[in-house]
Amino acid sequence: MAGYLLGVDVQPSAEMVVALVNTSPARNGEEGLVSSDVLVEMGRAAKIYYRPDFTEAEVLGMRRLRDRLDEILRADSQEARFAMLNELFYSAAAIPQIVTHAEDPNPHFHYTLEDASYVDHIKGVTAYALARLIIMGEYDRLRTCEADGCNRLFLDTTRNGKRRYCSSQTCGNRIHTARYRNRKQQSRPSRTYARRS
Ligand SMILES: [Zn+2]
Ligand SMILES: [Zn+2]
Repeated sequence: MAGYLLGVDVQPSAEMVVALVNTSPARNGEEGLVSSDVLVEMGRAAKIYYRPDFTEAEVLGMRRLRDRLDEILRADSQEARFAMLNELFYSAAAIPQIVTHAEDPNPHFHYTLEDASYVDHIKGVTAYALARLIIMGEYDRLRTCEADGCNRLFLDTTRNGKRRYCSSQTCGNRIHTARYRNRKQQSRPSRTYARRS
């Protein structure tokens, strides 16, 4: 459990939801899920050992799953959210099993049978992560960045749960810089800054 505030079976999978959702044009400004290579990177970061099949159909299936996950995140009622999550479990033919394997010798859940497609495996993993966050009362840790012009999703894993930006390096800093510039602008001739941006 060490290192995972939200649990080893929830946090990496929830990060996969975030990475996946952030590839959508609605979040990212352009289509970020252009090939299964993107999924390999994501899976590695999320400690997911399922391997994509590198087919066109898989990319399309993953985009559909991604858009569905974002719809779940934007759902305005718990009833709608539960219905969509249960539909994901159902359509992935999810059957929980406790397992160990070479890549992960600690007992853990798999949510889909071995021969399920990559898309269905990821459906099971991501639907479970969202359902667990809801059950744990931590669902509001999945939030949209508050920076102007940024629509990215992030998972707040800080202890106090008060993070506001997807990344303190970019969005958090951009805000601070903008505030600083505004203050400076008010106390100096605007001519000095007119050429900056
Ligand atoms: Zn496993
Ligand atoms: Zn942001």
